[in-house]
Parts: sequence; C-alpha cells; structure tokens
Amino acid sequence: MVIGIDMDDTICSTNELIIEVADKYDKEVLGGSGVKDINAYEFTEMMGWEKEMKGKFFADRLEYIMDNAPIKEGAREVINRLHDNGWKILIISFRKDKYLSDPFKLTKDWLDRNDIHYDKIFVNTGTKTDECIENKVNLFIDDKESHCEDVSSAGIDVLLFTNAYNHEEKRFKRVDNWYQVEDYIKEKYNG
Ligand SMILES: [Mg+2]
Repeated sequence: MVIGIDMDDTICSTNELIIEVADKYDKEVLGGSGVKDINAYEFTEMMGWEKEMKGKFFADRLEYIMDNAPIKEGAREVINRLHDNGWKILIISFRKDKYLSDPFKLTKDWLDRNDIHYDKIFVNTGTKTDECIENKVNLFIDDKESHCEDVSSAGIDVLLFTNAYNHEEKRFKRVDNWYQVEDYIKEKYNG
C-alpha cells in the first residue's frame, strides 16, 4: 500500500514557527511592534503588513523556517512503523523554488535529520493529484483543504490533518494527530 503525506503542518509544525519568526522580524528588522492580530485569517492582516511585505519576508526567512520547523508529536514513530509494516511512504510537498534555493534538498535533509523513513520525495507540486495517481497512492494526508479536495476527487482516500485554519472543513475525515492516523489505518487497512 502507498501513502502520500504532506510536509508543512502535517509532518512538521511550520505555521507556528512562521508566526514566531514574523513577530521577531517585524520587531527587529522592520521596527514594528510584532503580531498585530493573532486571530486574523490572512497572514499580512495578522502582521499588519502590506501585501508585498509577505514576499520579502518569505524570501528572507522561509528557508530558515522550513529548515527549523519542529516535528509533530508521533510523526516519526507512526511513519516509521508504517514503513516497517510495508507501506510505501511518499512525501508530497507544495514547497516551491520561489523562496527556497533547493526545496528537494531542504526537505530531504530535514527528513534525514529527523530520522523519518520514506521512499520518495516530491516537491514543487501542483494540486498533488498527478503524483498520487501516477504513484498509485491509496491514502493521502494533508492539512490543506484544496489538496484534499483535488486528490479526493480522483477517488483516493484522504485524511485532513487539523491545522489552525481548517476547523470549519467538514467534507473529509479529520485527524488531529499522528496517533489518530495510525488508528485509522489499523481499522481501515489492517495495518
Ligand atoms: Mg501543508
């Protein structure tokens, strides 16, 4: 069986670090007072920045953030256990060349450093549907509703990993942590 797994806010907690680093960046680089509205849905609104500031911030800091994003609880043990049980593990990330010098290497180095066992990494994806179909993915896990929607429409089983912004989404089976992923797989796929 084949499992396709997103990186950011599925295997690692990227968003929390983005906010932490943006707060610091606003105070130290831009001379501001940090996060303006922590509950704002849109990032520039949260920071009180002009739209173009987001691009500059990502160009300056996204590489550092993705390199240092902390692993989510249970991710290593559950993914490695699935790998040991014969699941093929595909890492399917939307990470782009735009703000990262080498998204593949960045992702590979992070996974190796965190001792996660996988079979293949895809970066620079579009909707992720092509990678899932071409590699015969049975189960796909992502925190982004649009990716779940696209992959699900190809008839592939999906799990939506809860993040700070997707609480309203009701169309997909939801998991809050990696232990729930493991329970779901045990129940539905026997392992
Ligand atoms: Mg994600």
